[in-house]
Amino acid sequence: MAVTEIPKITDNVEALVAEIDPDKCSGCGVCLPLCSYSAIGWFEYKGKKRAHIDPALCKGCGVCVAACPSRAINLEGFTTEEIESQIENLTF
Ligand code: SF4
Ligand code: SF4
Repeated sequence: MAVTEIPKITDNVEALVAEIDPDKCSGCGVCLPLCSYSAIGWFEYKGKKRAHIDPALCKGCGVCVAACPSRAINLEGFTTEEIESQIENLTF
């Protein structure tokens, strides 16, 4: 693939912030150790432990988005499927 065909996501990544849907989060904890910026922590939601992202710390790298088995995390402006597609394209 030519460089000019790589999606433009890297141009905007610093402006993106990931968000977790607490109704989809299962509380599995997979995402917490994956964040290099310690942006993910716990909070109580409807009596259950759920992950939460601090928007002040999140760099929008997308690692947690791709790793969440419940597809509970999205980068603002991008769906999980779009992020996974972008990551796959960037690895070629
Ligand atoms: S990986 Fe997904 S389901 Fe697991 S704690 Fe994180 S947001 Fe919740
Ligand atoms: S998008 Fe990256 S920086 Fe933001 S919470 Fe997820 S892993 Fe951490």
